[in-house]
Amino acid sequence: RHSTVGLIGLGQMGNGMAKNLAEKSTGKVVVFDMNASAMDALTSKYPNVTAAKSAEEVAEKATTVLTMLPASAHVEQVYKGLEKVVDANHMLIDSSTIDAQVAAQVASRMLEKQALVFDAPVSGGTVGAANGTLTFMVGAPSPDAFEKTKPVLSLMGKNVVYCGANGTGQVAKLCNNMLLGISMVGVAETMLLGAKLGMDPVLLAQILNNSTGRCWSSDTNNPYPGVIPTAPAGRGYQGGFSNKLMAKDLGLAMKAAKDAQANPALGTMAAQLYTQLSTTKDFESLDFSSVFKWLAEHPSN
Ligand code: NAD
Repeated sequence: RHSTVGLIGLGQMGNGMAKNLAEKSTGKVVVFDMNASAMDALTSKYPNVTAAKSAEEVAEKATTVLTMLPASAHVEQVYKGLEKVVDANHMLIDSSTIDAQVAAQVASRMLEKQALVFDAPVSGGTVGAANGTLTFMVGAPSPDAFEKTKPVLSLMGKNVVYCGANGTGQVAKLCNNMLLGISMVGVAETMLLGAKLGMDPVLLAQILNNSTGRCWSSDTNNPYPGVIPTAPAGRGYQGGFSNKLMAKDLGLAMKAAKDAQANPALGTMAAQLYTQLSTTKDFESLDFSSVFKWLAEHPSN
């Protein structure tokens, strides 16, 4: 069971991660998801992948157990089950994006069982998960323990970064996504204003991308339709990173800010805007660059 890797949660991200484990791991892979068809899709394709009947069974069959679940409550529930079966042989890695405090709390309970436990949220999205090019931001009980995560995480990602104590992986992730949300709103407002003032949007983007305004939201995921033909804006904002997920991550950032008695003004505004988009019909599943379309349709906002 030491050479077996377990993965719980086979959704948009977990499915791609499981494929990379199945294709690159030298041992077996054991998976569990509440949705049986998510498991069937993998077991029918890969002879080295088997389906478990529960999260606990995954930890009985594998000493390395990854989780890729929607939110804090799912991780707390699954970890409650795992607590019954883990021991000093286990290495538990949660890659879900969750509340940093919850990550630290579940970690401390697992450490009491002598298991090694890590928060390792990712950036890179579904494309990174499918291609095995994710970045893992890892909170670990110690730097030495962190080193032990590299062989397995490298099967699914190109960067594995040590962030500090348990919970700091989540802190890095939510800080990055708060800046991402803010920068996207900033680029959307900038492109809207420039176009309104008569500037050619393609030329404006070129200038921004070679000037001090350059950022990923402008040079890779520009929200103005057609400026970057391959970006979601060029296909009606389909695919990409949804407003719903951005709203979730900004909600976690706001919770963490409150815990730290911080009050980030722009982060708060971005969180409000994305909460609005995530609850507006026809917007919730669009890429988060669709904030451009929303702002264009609500000029007085
Ligand atoms: P998803 O909803 O597609 O998948 C979650 C999976 O977990 C589902 O298959 C669901 O059936 C399963 N699940 C839920 N509760 C379970 C339980 N108790 N036991 C077993 N399985 C259970 O979500 P996703 O898009 O794969 O995202 C997973 C995590 O990764 C989230 O925390 C998300 O914020 C984060 N993330 C997502 C992206 C992205 O682009 N989708 C990017 C970076 C990070």
